[in-house]
Formats: sequence, structure tokens, C-alpha cells
Amino acid sequence: MQAASPSSVTTVAYFSMEVGLSPEVFTYSGGLGVLAGDTLRSAADLGVPLVGVTLIYRKGYIRQHLDDQGNQSESPASWNPEDLLEPMEPVVTVSLEGRPVQVRAWRYPVRGHSGHTVPVFFLDTALPENSEWDRTLTDHLYGGDDYYRLCQEVVLGMGGVAMLSALGFRDRMVYHLNEGHSALLALSLLESRLQAGGASAVSEADVEAVRRQCVFTTHTPVPAGHDKFSWELVEKVLGRARADLLKASHCCVNGGLNMTHLALRFAGFINGVAMRHGEISTGMFPGYPIDAVTNGVHAATWTSRPCADLFDRRIPEWRKDNFYLRYAVGISLPEITEAHAQAKRALLDEVERRRGVSLPESVLTIGFARRATTYKRPDLLFSDLERLRGMARQGGPLQVIYGGKAHPRDEGGKEMIRRVFQGAAALGDAVRVVYLENYDMALGKILCAGVDLWLNTPLRPQEASGTSGMKAALNGVPSFSVLDGWWVEGHVEHVTGWAIGDDSAGPEEYSQDAASMYDKLERVILPLYYGRPEAYARVRRYAIALNGSFFNTQRMVSQYVTNAYFPARE
Ligand SMILES: *Cc1c(COP(=O)(O)O)cnc(C)c1O
Repeated sequence: MQAASPSSVTTVAYFSMEVGLSPEVFTYSGGLGVLAGDTLRSAADLGVPLVGVTLIYRKGYIRQHLDDQGNQSESPASWNPEDLLEPMEPVVTVSLEGRPVQVRAWRYPVRGHSGHTVPVFFLDTALPENSEWDRTLTDHLYGGDDYYRLCQEVVLGMGGVAMLSALGFRDRMVYHLNEGHSALLALSLLESRLQAGGASAVSEADVEAVRRQCVFTTHTPVPAGHDKFSWELVEKVLGRARADLLKASHCCVNGGLNMTHLALRFAGFINGVAMRHGEISTGMFPGYPIDAVTNGVHAATWTSRPCADLFDRRIPEWRKDNFYLRYAVGISLPEITEAHAQAKRALLDEVERRRGVSLPESVLTIGFARRATTYKRPDLLFSDLERLRGMARQGGPLQVIYGGKAHPRDEGGKEMIRRVFQGAAALGDAVRVVYLENYDMALGKILCAGVDLWLNTPLRPQEASGTSGMKAALNGVPSFSVLDGWWVEGHVEHVTGWAIGDDSAGPEEYSQDAASMYDKLERVILPLYYGRPEAYARVRRYAIALNGSFFNTQRMVSQYVTNAYFPARE
């Protein structure tokens, strides 16, 4: 066997369809992109030799508009890459339906806190040499039809490999596929190996060689989250020879190309994004060894100013080494309470600014913001309005702040937003509910930090990890969540937050989860918040100390380094 000595591995190329680098770079839609951005930030902090590769999306994802009934409409979220990114010299070519399409790259430097830089390369087809249509290929994130998407994935995977080589990355590389969208990069690696060896047919040894270079992270147990393309489309876009090569490598499953299967076949290290998700994925893809590396968030990015100031005073090492957040146990409760109160005021000011609604600071404030889609069940809270009104009357007032965009073609997700609006209208002043438009990283930061309780009600086991609850925890905001994704690991009942329902799924899940949610809110959380504020502050403190110190991307990237990128070999 050819030796893959760790010392010869010098660069990790992290490929992601979306990357959330900063609020004004609109190249992300949700959790996957925010995770990619946090990964790159922590890799920079840790000095990992890593580069990012993604597409430029000149028209961004979407800007969300909501009318009085909660009907969503969208407009493009255009931005000016020229103002923020540095153009690179090389131009590479990918082949789409046999025609050459030119690709260039723009560079965005992610600087770590000690100065190490992780460059991110944004691939761009808006070049005068390309046809008008080909120039739009890197305009829209998750827009267009299957043809558009497959062409984009050729640009990302195959264009990305060619671009790195043109940029001078000639060392041995490790390719990290953040979800299956970039899996065609494996085809490029396979082709160059066959060319170098002058081989005409692909052998298992060739596949094995590619495998030693590829790490694959799968992100969702929802089948719709895995890209599939018909074989006709694959032959049309890639050409007969490449399609045949994929077939000969056993990548044609159920008459089509499933990007997850392509990635599974060519990855030497495969992981899910939480321990539970690793188990679920093992069940979904029998025959593949699937590990788990639990997601995290970039602590310094997601900690509010008041909490960051507090940590800087009490545990100054926390930025360099997030494990120090463990010592938040030694911070006094009044200091924690005061830092959170400041973050809450900032949130309520933002609500007033955006919606003209003044919400009182003393009221228990629940937050719920995530991609609006059916399985996340944002309407669970409204399944029994009478009960909700009753507990607010008797146990103490509560108010709720929502946010989240639905994908333009996700009718179910759009319906979820309307239901939240209907619930809000029915509750009126009994429980105030506000929906904030255009949830993005900037709003996410204010929201996760400023509420008192972070609600999460996905249908098990569809939440692979979830990361917004981790952002909340860093800011002393406990989660109130279904036991799915990261919460299976982060939850210690009444210590770091509260579970909704138990750990088993069944046909009665919706009503059982709703009942459990109401019971706990009424009997445990409201009495604690209004009756024993010190005890509530203690939960805040454990959320920081136990969850913030672990569910961060510094720990996560360290695990990728140890287990996936540069594993010790005997
Ligand atoms: C953190 C974040 C997400 C991911 O949150 P989940 O809990 O995984 O749903 C999505 N969108 C934005 C804007 C975020 O900041």
C-alpha cells in the first residue's frame, strides 16, 4: 500500500456549497453555511493549514419579506464581491455538456485571533468569455432547477480541484466535503490518478487511493436533503465518458447519481454531526463506517458583547482556549444575570426598532429562530392556545420572538410561518408573539443571546445537530428542546436546560411533545423564572460552563484534526 504519511499532508481543502463568513457576505442560507464559517474561523484561530472553497453567489440567497398574514415573498440579496474580496489571477475550465466554462476565484482571508490566515476561495463564472447563461451559474444559492444545480456542483467540485492546483496548492491535500454537494471533486481526483498511471479501467486500488484523501461530513437524515440527479442529466452535463467512469466506480444507485452515495464511496473518514446523528446515519447507509464529530459554534463570534466583556474580566483565556469557559462556574450569579439583562435589552431595542413593538423586559421571553420548514415544527407552541393563555395568566406572563426564512419553493415551510402569525393573532395581548423578518447571522446573534429560553421542537430524529441552541448556551440562555441532535449530549435536566418529551419516537409524538412542553413550561420553568431567579441564573451559568465550553468549533476542529485530517497511523 502506498504510504500516506501524515507529515506529507500539508493542506486541508474544505469544500462547502455555502459559507457564512459575515453578515454582509450573503453566501449562506442557514445552519450548514454558518457551521462552515465557524469552522473556517476556528481553523484560523488554531493555525490549521486549511483553505475554504465555495461559490460566489452574486445574487446571494434570499431577502425575506412578510406581509401581515405571514405570507413570505423574496427578493435577491445581491452584494458586491468586488468591495470585499480580492480577485485571483488563474482561470480554470470545467466542461459542461462538452462546452468549456471558465471559472475564476476571489479570495477572502479569515484571520484567526493570533494572526494565522485561512483563505476562502469563491468560485465565479461571471466572465466575459462565458455565455450569458453560464455567467449566471454562480449567482444563486439553492436556486434554479436540477440542471442548474448539477452544473453548479461541477463548478464547485471539479472547478474547485482545478482551481486549487492552478493557485499553486500542489502538496498532498486532504479534501473535506462539507455535505455531498462537492462530491464530484472525487471524480477529478480519480481522473488525475488514472491519467497519471495511464490506466484505462478503474480499480478498487484507485478508489482506495482517492479515499485516503477525502473526508465526508453528512448533515441531514432528511432524504430531501441529499441531492439526487437522474442518469440522463448526469450523462448530458458530464458527458458519456465521465458518466461511465462514475458507473464503473459503482456510484450509480437506483438509476441516478446520489451525491451522498458518491461522497460515501470516496471518503476514507465519514461522520455525522452529533453522536445520535452518527447512529442514525449508520442505519441509513449500511456498509459504511460512520463516525461522529459533534458540531459547535465559534465562541467569540456568537457571544454577545456584555457576556464577552464578563468572560474577558473573569476568564480572559476563553478566547484563545474555549475550554476555559468551564470556569464560568466560578462567576457570581449577579454578574451572569446582569450580563444577560444587557443582552436582553439590546434585543428588545432591536424588536422595537424593527417592528415598533415595545416588549417589557421583566417578562419571560422565549426565542425560536431557524430555517422555516415543516420538521422543525415552529407551530407546536400553538397547539393548545387556551392552555398557553391560562399559564400566562396564572404562572406569569410570557412573550415569544420568532425568526426564520422558508426556502422559496418550500410551501410547507411557508405555511409554518403563516401558522405562527395565526397563533400570534389569536393570542393577542395574552401572550405577545413577534416574528422578525429576514433572519440572518446578525439577527441570530442578538436573538440567541437576548431571550431567556431557547425553544427547539424538531421532529425526531431529523435535527442532525442544530447549532442555534449552542449560541444561546454561550450567552447563558438555556435550551428547552426535544431530545434530538446536540441536545441529547448537552442536556442535563434542570441543570443546563430542559427536555421536551422523552427519548423515544412514536406515532403520538406530536401530542406527547406538546403535552410535555406545556407541562414543563407551566410547572417547572415559569415558577423557576418568576419564583426563584437565583436558581434560574444558576441554569444560565451551567449552560455556559458545561455547554459553551464543549459545543464550540474549536473543540470540533480539533477533533477533525485528530480523527480525520491527520490521524495517527501505526
Ligand atoms: C445558527 C444559525 C442557523 C442554524 O440554527 P439551527 O439551530 O441549526 O437551526 C441558521 N441560520 C442562521 C442565520 C444562524 O445564525
